[in-house]
Amino acid sequence: MPHSSINLIRDIPDFPSPGIIFKDITPVLADAAAFQSVVSDMAAPYAGIGLTHVAGIEARGFILATPIADRLGLGFVPIRKPGKLPAATRSVSYKLEYGVDELQIHEDAVGPGDRVLIVDDVIATGGTAAATIELIEQLGATVVGLSVYVELAFLNGATRLNGTPLTALVVYA
Ligand code: AMP
Repeated sequence: MPHSSINLIRDIPDFPSPGIIFKDITPVLADAAAFQSVVSDMAAPYAGIGLTHVAGIEARGFILATPIADRLGLGFVPIRKPGKLPAATRSVSYKLEYGVDELQIHEDAVGPGDRVLIVDDVIATGGTAAATIELIEQLGATVVGLSVYVELAFLNGATRLNGTPLTALVVYA
């Protein structure tokens, strides 16, 4: 059965570019009961399994990752666009449909022995998630899973995660 919040997800055609159907989750976030159930249900599979941190991907990933970290009693680590983090960073570049993008992490954010859950709002092609996994693994930490609210399964992002387990509340086949 699909997650009860699914009816609040709004399709915005041709945003941010022609041919993309953008899954707008702002109506879900604005609904107190829906937001609460999304946070609880995304966090639930990861309670009590010895995690140390939740890493959120800028920017919409932060909105979900921080309450999930709080719910699980874990620290939060931001994965950011270049030039935003103030201390020493590691970077990974990854390919977009047109051009290249880059993500950064503070190099002292996690390390060997840490067990990290990555959180984002949507997985599409999986490039962003794959780059985040690489950043965290470069620092010697273990990526235990990737929790997303929405999976666009027809784009096969899960196949780019090198076996990292993926959980999604809403899957578009
Ligand atoms: P990906 O192709 O998996 O690297 O997706 C890149 C990022 O863009 C993800 O972090 C998503 O938040 C966002 N994204 C990609 N496609 C969509 C979409 N159709 N609707 C909403 N967000 C999207």
